[in-house]
Amino acid sequence: MLVAEDNATNQKLLLALLKERGHRVTMAGNGREAVETSAARRFDLILMDVQMPEMNGLEATAAIRARERETGAHVPIIALTAHAMSGDRERCLEAGMDAYVAKPLRPDELFATIGECCGLPSGEAQAGAATEQPATQAVDRATLLAAFGGNASLLAETAGVFLADAPGLLARLRRAAHAGDLDEVAAAAHAIKGAAGLFSQGDAFESARRLEQHARAGDAASIASARDALERAMAGLTHDVEALLGET
Ligand code: MN
Repeated sequence: MLVAEDNATNQKLLLALLKERGHRVTMAGNGREAVETSAARRFDLILMDVQMPEMNGLEATAAIRARERETGAHVPIIALTAHAMSGDRERCLEAGMDAYVAKPLRPDELFATIGECCGLPSGEAQAGAATEQPATQAVDRATLLAAFGGNASLLAETAGVFLADAPGLLARLRRAAHAGDLDEVAAAAHAIKGAAGLFSQGDAFESARRLEQHARAGDAASIASARDALERAMAGLTHDVEALLGET
């Protein structure tokens, strides 16, 4: 299986999840790498993040499908994308993707889609697992554990990855903001959104989403206050994830 994903935290989560289900995983850090790697080797499935630097997932999929028109092959491609963005699903299918999983990733949904899309084993049914996102703003251990298929060690591992990566993500954001580089601010906010969303769609996820939007819109005036809000929310989320790790 080939996984194209630029967010380091999501990469580690996907690797841990897929390996646990017995998949052999090759990782690509952007769309261009995915196109090149999938040309060199055959894969039974590609998980393709939509928002990536260099070449995004839609462009990479279009390139792979163009190549396949000459070879007659068809590798299933599942999009990994933010459902908050309207029209995402349609754009993915138009680009030639076969299916779609919304971020923040939920292992139970990911494996169900892999099973439906590709006829690959989806693992045991997750009886009783929540299928709705939690309405609560706080980190909820029971809901999270259900989303991780009841696997406490995987949840702990992901929490550890988040705590290790969060300071670097925030430092990247600060550097970008001081340099006035809005593209880099948007990229850093996007990465923080992906990491925070693994645990909660509360304040940290929401502030990162807003900051990314302001930066993409070139709205420099709104960035300082959005960044303050995100810093505060990330401090809160980091505290909650540390507490979660203590319980796991
Ligand atoms: Mn991405």
